[in-house]
Amino acid sequence: MNAPLPKAPINWIAVFALVFLPIVAIIAIPLYAFQHDFSVSAWVSMFVLLGVSSLGITAGYHRLWAHRAYEATLPLKIILMLMGTFAVQNSILFWASGHRTHHRHVDDIDQDPYSINNGFWYAHMGWMLRNYPAAEPNYKNAPDLLKDKVVMFQDKYYIPLVIAVHAAILLPIGWAVGDMWGVLLLGGLMRLILSHHVTFFINSLCHMWGKRPYTDENTARDNFWLAIATWGEGYHNYHHIFQYDYRNGVKWWQYDPTKWLIWSCSKLGLAKNLRRIPSFNIKKAELAMKFKYAEQDLAVYGHNVTEDISTVKSRIAQEYDAFSQTLNDWAKLKELEIQTRKASVTEKIHQMDDKLKVEFQLVEQRLSHHRAALNLLVRNLKKNPASN
Ligand SMILES: [Zn+2]
Ligand SMILES: [Zn+2]
Repeated sequence: MNAPLPKAPINWIAVFALVFLPIVAIIAIPLYAFQHDFSVSAWVSMFVLLGVSSLGITAGYHRLWAHRAYEATLPLKIILMLMGTFAVQNSILFWASGHRTHHRHVDDIDQDPYSINNGFWYAHMGWMLRNYPAAEPNYKNAPDLLKDKVVMFQDKYYIPLVIAVHAAILLPIGWAVGDMWGVLLLGGLMRLILSHHVTFFINSLCHMWGKRPYTDENTARDNFWLAIATWGEGYHNYHHIFQYDYRNGVKWWQYDPTKWLIWSCSKLGLAKNLRRIPSFNIKKAELAMKFKYAEQDLAVYGHNVTEDISTVKSRIAQEYDAFSQTLNDWAKLKELEIQTRKASVTEKIHQMDDKLKVEFQLVEQRLSHHRAALNLLVRNLKKNPASN
């Protein structure tokens, strides 16, 4: 299906971390369990430390450094850097710069470092096992990171830091709970492997499984189950259209522990300037997609339309015209605001913003009502094609 990938030299460090360590785990962990049994503390250490390393990646590497979705104080930066180092996913500089390229060239087989169009395994981990040209670091997109002292310190001392962080976290826990080997194997090795694949799922499965409520211009998907596994990063469709939002699960009820962590840090004075996309833009994208899906529903019957179907069709068309008109009015007001910089215009925009929130909600309700009616009509049509 895809063109074969170019031959590239093997990256032996990645092979050690991503292939050799899991082989060791498969042999050592059952063997140890058979002879000694793991303590409850060792199991607990695995789950807690999984959170520590994964949140270092999601809140630190990803939302802070790759996207600048908020600002962190120095103490928080240092903590997130150490947590992320514990996840062993290369340095912040390499990771965040590559991730920016992923957003810029998403799905492009030659330029997206982990394009899903090169297949599941490539996007999941294959891209790291060889030095493919698409994944070669190019820090032109990261001038801010090249100036960030925490980032550059970690990049310079990456390997010693990885070793130091592991020793500083695992040894005291192992000693305190009296199960050193248990903690090293579960809290250390097993946790590392799980934490790796949790992140890798965002590049693989989050570009394959789930819904596309905000955009269908790329392969990124929103998936609740993946959000559970990935500390909130499973709302990847939203993330790819509005990458600077500190939230990935943008609705208050969506499971996104990373956004809750960042929000809590802001309440503690450790983070500030949390970036949120205006709700108008979010609703606009969502509604535009709903119209698109309604359009696709309608296309299913082609010219074979009954009177009832054409009634629904014209209602949807009316809704769409009104929606486009509203967006036009909004755009004009915005332009006027930029040109005149008048307070009265800004005031008008605020009023319109409030009005639109309610209006969009109603459009959404009517639209889903129309689509439900349409589906019912089609089901009937399929059951009794003769009645047409
Ligand atoms: Zn992505
Ligand atoms: Zn991202």
